[in-house]
Amino acid sequence: MTIFEKILNNEIPSQILYEDDFAIAIPDIQPQLPVHVLVIPKTFATSLSDIGHWSSEQTAGYFQSIDKVAKHLQIENGYRVVFNTGSDAGQTVAYLHAHILAGSAMGWPPFSN
Ligand code: 5GP
Repeated sequence: MTIFEKILNNEIPSQILYEDDFAIAIPDIQPQLPVHVLVIPKTFATSLSDIGHWSSEQTAGYFQSIDKVAKHLQIENGYRVVFNTGSDAGQTVAYLHAHILAGSAMGWPPFSN
C-alpha cells in the first residue's frame, strides 16, 4: 500500500488542507516552492495513465477539486499543476497525485537538464 493510501485511510496522520467527495489535499513533505500541495484522489489510480476505469463523475470531480484547492488556499497569482507519470517523469509514489506549485514566479520550461 502506498503512503497516500495510508494517509487516505487515516493509518498515518497528515495535515489535511482541503477535502471534498473526490480528493484530499496535503502539504508536500519536501516543498519545492512556497506553496507545494498534493491533491490525492479518493478513487485509486496508479497514475494519470490509469484513470480509464474512473466514471465521468469521478474524473470531473477530481480535476475540479484541483482548482477548488487553489481557491481554498487563496492562491492569487497563478499556479502550476504537475502530474509526474511514470519513471522518466520521476514518479516516486504509485498513486495518482497532482502537485500544485505556487507562491513565486516559475520559469518555463520547467526542467533544468
Ligand atoms: P512524485 O515524485 O511521485 O510525483 O511525488 C511524490 C511526492 O510525494 C514528492 O514530492 C514527495 O516529497 C512527497 N511525499 C513523499 N512521501 C510523503 C509523505 O509521507 N507525506 C507527504 N506529505 N508528502 C510525501
